[in-house]
Amino acid sequence: MTEIRPERCQAPAFPPPSIVDYRPRSTLVTPQHPVPKAKFPAIDFHGHPQGLLSSAEQLASLVAALDALNVRVMVSADNMSGDRLVRTLDVIRNSPHKDRVRILAGVNLSNVGPGWAEKAVSQLETDLKAGAVGIGEISKGFGLRTRKADGSRLKLDDPDLDPFWEACARLKIPVFIHTADPAEFFEPIDAHNERWLELALFADRRYPADEFPRFEELMAERDRLFARHPRTTFVAAHMGWHANDLARLGKMLDAMPNVYTEVGAVLYDIGRQPRLAHDFFVKYQDRLLFGKDSFQPEEYPYYWRVFETKDEYFDYYRNYHAFWKLYGIDLPDPVLKKLYFENALRLTSGLPQSGWPR
Ligand SMILES: [Zn+2]
Repeated sequence: MTEIRPERCQAPAFPPPSIVDYRPRSTLVTPQHPVPKAKFPAIDFHGHPQGLLSSAEQLASLVAALDALNVRVMVSADNMSGDRLVRTLDVIRNSPHKDRVRILAGVNLSNVGPGWAEKAVSQLETDLKAGAVGIGEISKGFGLRTRKADGSRLKLDDPDLDPFWEACARLKIPVFIHTADPAEFFEPIDAHNERWLELALFADRRYPADEFPRFEELMAERDRLFARHPRTTFVAAHMGWHANDLARLGKMLDAMPNVYTEVGAVLYDIGRQPRLAHDFFVKYQDRLLFGKDSFQPEEYPYYWRVFETKDEYFDYYRNYHAFWKLYGIDLPDPVLKKLYFENALRLTSGLPQSGWPR
C-alpha cells in the first residue's frame, strides 16, 4: 500500500493510471552518449539470424546490418544439423561473406534412452566435419519440457547424456546452453513480481508449479551437469539467469572453471547495478561472451552504451520488461575486447582467428 499520512498525503485523489499506461517522462538532464557501433569488432555468440542465412541476398542484408553495428561475426545458435546445416554452410561459403557467420550444431534431445548417445555423437561428428564450430543453442526446452523415451522428464544431469558431453570435450568444442528462464517466471504472478506486466502479456513465459519443475531444481540439475564434466566447456546463456545475483554467478564461475557465460537478453539486470556489474565484469573478464539473442539490429546499441559509457538513467528497449532505467558500466578497453571477441575466439577454434585488433 502507498503510505497515507493524515492531513498531508492521502489516497489518490484521481483514478490512478493503469500499469499499462503509466509511463512518466523523466525530467533528468544528463550527458547522453548513444553508441551506434561497438568500439571494437564484436562476435555475437548468441545469434538467431534465421531466414537471413537462406539465400545470398538475405545474407548480404544480414552483413550490412552487422557492419552498421561493428559486429564482425555472427555465430548462429539455431540448433542446425544434417542437411539444413550443410545447405546453410553452402550459402555462406559461396558468398563474399565467408568469415562473417559461423554455425553451432544442434543436438536432438528427444527420446533419449538406450542407443541415443552413439547416434547423437555420430551426428555431431558429421556436423563438425561439415563445418559447425560448437553445439547450440541447447534450448530451455531441455529441462522444462523434453521427455525421455520412457516418458519421464529428461533431467539436465541425466547419465544417459554423459557420453555426449564427453564427446564435446574430446572434440574440443563449446556447448552453448540455455537453461530455464528468469526466476520470476516461476513465481506467483502478483503485485510483488517485478515481471508482472510481461507475465500478463506473454502466456508462454509462465511456469506454474503444477506443470513445470521449479527454477532452483533446474539450476541444481544444471550445476551438477557442469560439475560432472569438467573437461567440457559450457557457455551458460543469459548469464545463467543469475545476472540479478552476481555474487551467486561469481561463486558458480569460481567453482567451475569449465563454465563461461553469455550476456544476451539480461541487459536490464547488468544496467541497473552499474557499480557492482562493473566490478564483476572486471573480475570475471575471462569468462564472459557477448551475445544478443533475438536479431533486432536497433537493440544492439543499448548493449554498447551500457558496456562502454557512464551514461545515467536511460531507457531499456523493452518497456514491459524492466520498470527501471539503465546505467553505463564503463568497462575499460581490455575488458571490452575480451567480452566482444577475445573470449569467444579462445573457446571456439573454428571462428575466424585473424584480423582482430590486439
Ligand atoms: Zn537463443
